[in-house]
Amino acid sequence: MTAAARTAIDDAIPAFKEAVGDGGWTTDQDEIAPHVVEDRGLYRGVTPLLLKPSSTEQLARIVGLCHEKGIAIVPQAGNTSLCGGSTPHDDGSEVIVSVARMNRIREIDAVNYTMTAEAGCILANLQDAADEADRFFPLSLAAEGTCQIGGNLSTNAGGINVLRYGNARELVLGLEVVLPNGEVWNGLRSLRKDNTGYDLKQLFLGAEGTLGIITAAVLKLFPKPRDIQTAFVAVPDPEAALELLARARAGSGDTLSCFELIPRIAIDFALRHIPGVQDPLSEPHPWYVLMELSSSAEGEALRDTLEGLFEGWFEQGLVLDATLAASGAQRQQLWHIRESLPEAQKPEGGSIKHDVSVPVSRVAEFIARGTEATEKAIPGSRVMAFGHAGDGNIHFNVSQPEGADRARFLGEWKRLNRIIHDIVADMDGSFSAEHGVGRLKLDDVERYKSPIEINLMRSLKQAIDPKGIMNPGKVVP
Ligand code: FAD
Ligand code: ZN
Repeated sequence: MTAAARTAIDDAIPAFKEAVGDGGWTTDQDEIAPHVVEDRGLYRGVTPLLLKPSSTEQLARIVGLCHEKGIAIVPQAGNTSLCGGSTPHDDGSEVIVSVARMNRIREIDAVNYTMTAEAGCILANLQDAADEADRFFPLSLAAEGTCQIGGNLSTNAGGINVLRYGNARELVLGLEVVLPNGEVWNGLRSLRKDNTGYDLKQLFLGAEGTLGIITAAVLKLFPKPRDIQTAFVAVPDPEAALELLARARAGSGDTLSCFELIPRIAIDFALRHIPGVQDPLSEPHPWYVLMELSSSAEGEALRDTLEGLFEGWFEQGLVLDATLAASGAQRQQLWHIRESLPEAQKPEGGSIKHDVSVPVSRVAEFIARGTEATEKAIPGSRVMAFGHAGDGNIHFNVSQPEGADRARFLGEWKRLNRIIHDIVADMDGSFSAEHGVGRLKLDDVERYKSPIEINLMRSLKQAIDPKGIMNPGKVVP
């Protein structure tokens, strides 16, 4: 099978080259190297050929060829997704199709509040382009300088503004997709209302490249926030944080746009390992919230709103201490702490990660149950549970006990995942809130999705990709 697949690729190389032209392909393994591993190094694959089409027509020709010859494809954008979805298997039987060169913004329609962009556009560039048009594209995550919109949409990326604007899925009005048989579906509609049967674009959003390759999208834009107020708040426990969340939404005219939960251990790690980080508050506290109100209105009305809310919260003991950013630079400093947390954890040794969600109202209960179970399973391990509490999405990362053997600790990855994901399932939560399934969480799909759900997924895969050439071995067990 593998040898036959290799021969099929080798035989088709002249046709691939012709389809994409110079600069659109490489067989040079040095050039290919960064495309076959992901950042954590969990997966290392092999491919004889990396294709980099510069247009939808070229990409469709490539996929048509693959369909004809039965060659499997791994679609790739920024390769930041960390689940083994964007890299090939290690048998060399797949070609990588990168959308990186398809990076044009085709249109910005400021009146329609939309932007039509190709799949290879880097997320930060789209944010900048919207800004230049006096509009706002709210998708924002730490990888935004490298990840590309095709990858964001294929993983239904979340990030820091989900609370107010939704996940990537909610930011799309239309899609252009190359189907597994090489046909191009032009669904680039920019309509706010369209009730004409199945919402086909939703099939491809979050599909991690298993049903086709997204080549362009119509994205929703929003009024640019002008009044942004950011606060770093100490709270006694996660319960208080959730109470704060509910009250902040109601009391601020629903202008709350970010609500990130941070435990003290994370601040300690950041102070220890990230240059330039300072403790924002004078005394240490057990838990913190980084919250932001924003509105498109000119002025600083939200500052008064926030200060008014804090007064009451202090009195009720909900808030122990707080600081409001007085300038854009201070706001950056506060966000820098939040964004540096994954990096700050690295020097503490091995860490076992969970990217999970539960109903927002049950976040505190989940953290308590998860922490207790973790400390029982691996005594001395250090739970760092942080993240998008406003969306019920917690990055439940566990650092190894101090001085423990890193490899031995990481050997517990599957066992601890099972314990935490069982708790999440018991709370009607999700074992992957942001980063997708890829290869990393295929077992979890089998364990936690119902047979009916898995059968529906298989039926869709079979109907749209009957030859199974689109990112095989990912997402669908
Ligand atoms: P890739 O990794 O290249 O691909 C992702 C998947 O989509 C793969 O399965 C690939 O085969 C498929 N794919 C890629 N392009 C296409 C296409 N055009 N058509 C069809 N399929 C395609 N994620 C969040 O949701 N929220 C966060 O806050 C967040 N923070 C992160 C912070 C850091 C530091 C890092 C490294 C990652 C973070 N992620 C986060 C994960 C990652 O950034 C997102 O999953 C991102 O959306 C992936 O985009 P990408 O361009 O790197 O896609
Ligand atoms: Zn996140």
